[in-house]
Amino acid sequence: MSKIQVPVAKNEYYDVTFEDLTHEGAGVAKVDGFPIFVENALPDERAKIKVIKVKKGFAFGRLIETYEQSKHRTNAPCPIYSQCGGCQLQHLSYEGQLGFKKKQVEQVLTRIGKLDLTKVHVHPTLGMNDPWNYRNKAQVPIGEREGGLVAGFYQKRSHDIIDMERCLIQQAENDDIVQAVKSICETYGIRAYNEEKHKGWLRHIMVRYGLVTKEMMVVFVSKTADFPHKIDIIKEITTQFPQVKSIVQNINNKRTNVIFGDETKVLWGEEYIYDKIGDVKFAISARSFYQVNPEQTKILYDKALEYAGLTGEESVIDAYCGIGTISLFLAQKAKRVFGVEIVPEAIEDAKRNAELNGMTNAEFAVGEAEVVIPEWYKQGNTADVIVVDPPRKGCDEALLKTIIEMKPKRVVYVSCNPGTLARDLQVLELGGYETVEVQPVDMFPHTTHVECVAKLTLI
Ligand code: SAH
Repeated sequence: MSKIQVPVAKNEYYDVTFEDLTHEGAGVAKVDGFPIFVENALPDERAKIKVIKVKKGFAFGRLIETYEQSKHRTNAPCPIYSQCGGCQLQHLSYEGQLGFKKKQVEQVLTRIGKLDLTKVHVHPTLGMNDPWNYRNKAQVPIGEREGGLVAGFYQKRSHDIIDMERCLIQQAENDDIVQAVKSICETYGIRAYNEEKHKGWLRHIMVRYGLVTKEMMVVFVSKTADFPHKIDIIKEITTQFPQVKSIVQNINNKRTNVIFGDETKVLWGEEYIYDKIGDVKFAISARSFYQVNPEQTKILYDKALEYAGLTGEESVIDAYCGIGTISLFLAQKAKRVFGVEIVPEAIEDAKRNAELNGMTNAEFAVGEAEVVIPEWYKQGNTADVIVVDPPRKGCDEALLKTIIEMKPKRVVYVSCNPGTLARDLQVLELGGYETVEVQPVDMFPHTTHVECVAKLTLI
């Protein structure tokens, strides 16, 4: 095998034009087809860069001088943007972000999915009118500095915790309560967990906020099951924040980066808070998966419902259904819905949510979608419409194979990863489906993530 020629060298300077952004938000430029990643550079910008590190198939560079700025460059409003890393695109105008996300989807659909964009309509990204303060959940690591507590975020590429009073993409209510809980804990001499020494008590504070109901939940993640000054701390929180309906403790005694441990107990109030998406009500527990941007979730689910084209007569499968959010949205307009999900607790929640809404036409099963759905089909069941909403790795091949054999009239594919979406669409196209349209939805403004919903019909 011939050795790959690397056309750039460390410490050399190059004039480049940026074409793209990486998932971390770095600009991508190419020298003789060889990609170079440069922080704080945007597509369409021309600049002089210095190569600082060369790897096998790519290099890292540093911006030396920008000759031409992107018309979409803007000043990041967050004062800690460069330290945090939670957002990657605040230096790109919101209009620029939406355009970039659409282009990214189009690129992968053609490159990976081999789809013909003259046939598949990729719509402009649906963004938010006000793309700030949208997150309904905050998970904040707790540390100590000079005897006091800090609550904020891990500094980029490190495990130092930086204190943060405001996060601009977080619901202000969440920031307020985290700050208050931090100072209440400080008053009672609560010690933060120390990762290196595996000592101390409070690891994380998590808060959830129901956008429609305004109900709040506070979760203490602690190293041990005790709770010093429990009664006083709870009293202070519930007096200051009457909207808090649930206070929960999760115990995580492991040396790990994973936030939650296996044991969860309710300390005060309910096990759940409630929220609504459209007309459907959901009970959300401390560990349930629930979309973090409820306003955009409604837009995403409305689109999925529109693409499902339901008249009230259809049998619908919702694969990867979580706590039944999409299933119950579909059940409003379908004859029956069958939801499948791998996490047993999520299926318990889904059943409870169906009951909560008085919906009797939704059934749920625990298991792998790629096992449960083929078995269900073998037993003689079919569906008119299948909705899938898989995790980042996309659908399992066995599931795609069953969809192709079952031949539902329509497939609606909800995806948080355009790469695996494109891969799976190609499989479905080869199996007799046509991708008609793809709608990118901006669920996570100022980050590089993009969610899509695609409509496929049987030819
Ligand atoms: N549709 C839901 C959840 C989507 S997230 C919503 O919008 O809220 C993807 C879900 O797929 C997660 O709940 C995850 O637990 C589940 N999952 C992952 N692998 C799975 C598999 N092989 N079979 C079924 N469900 C799976």
